Amino acid sequence: MARTSAARPSKGTRPADSLERVHADVVACERCPRLRRWCREVAAARVKRFADQQYWGRPVPGFGDPRARLLVVGLAPAAHGANRTGRLFTGDRSGDFLFAALNRLGFASQPESIDRDDGLLLHDCYIAPVGRCAPPANKPTPVELARCREYLAREWALLARVSAVLVLGRIAMDGFLAMLSRTGRPLPPRLDFGHGVEHDLGDGLRLFCSYHVSQQNTFTGRLTPAAFDAVLARARSHMEGRP
Ligand code: SF4
Repeated sequence: MARTSAARPSKGTRPADSLERVHADVVACERCPRLRRWCREVAAARVKRFADQQYWGRPVPGFGDPRARLLVVGLAPAAHGANRTGRLFTGDRSGDFLFAALNRLGFASQPESIDRDDGLLLHDCYIAPVGRCAPPANKPTPVELARCREYLAREWALLARVSAVLVLGRIAMDGFLAMLSRTGRPLPPRLDFGHGVEHDLGDGLRLFCSYHVSQQNTFTGRLTPAAFDAVLARARSHMEGRP
């Protein structure tokens, strides 16, 4: 079930755009001085357990299958995870949880995500965050998120087959919907967030909500593998046209 052209920005807006170009623009981005400074400082200081590693220290682009029908929207890179490895959810506990689940549901070629050259492939799935730089205390400001929205919008325009969007947490949901409303898609005035909540966004597009896969949720039992798998399975059923 692919989106129709009504869901995308008008033709000709960015005729030469590509995921590769978006990724290059993300990596070179310096729009948020606070975040760029923080990422560099973390990369220079490191932590003891990664003291022998060269940190990425730059904005982190989305990644995955360009023909994906599932889009997973996260919050932002982790200081010693993606800000270290250069690939989203790679090298931290959130990624351990996420990729194990994606592998169980057939969206990832392997359950581990250790570094950006570990051979991991995503099938029918693309991962993008609402913020591309690791923020202090995991809290990007609304202004920083708004600055970063262009990158999600450009990826959205290029990922024309997406019919299921899985948002990890409330901030990811709000950021995704803010981006989507700017494409001109009419949205209901209020959409609730909760684990397992779903929303029909029209035009064959369905939104699936999950608690974020952070340690605060997975180590406390607020989000279990079974509960996360259940949401992923619902998304897969929708993508494949099953009720
Ligand atoms: S958060 Fe986004 S907009 Fe801000 S510097 Fe990083 S990539 Fe650029």
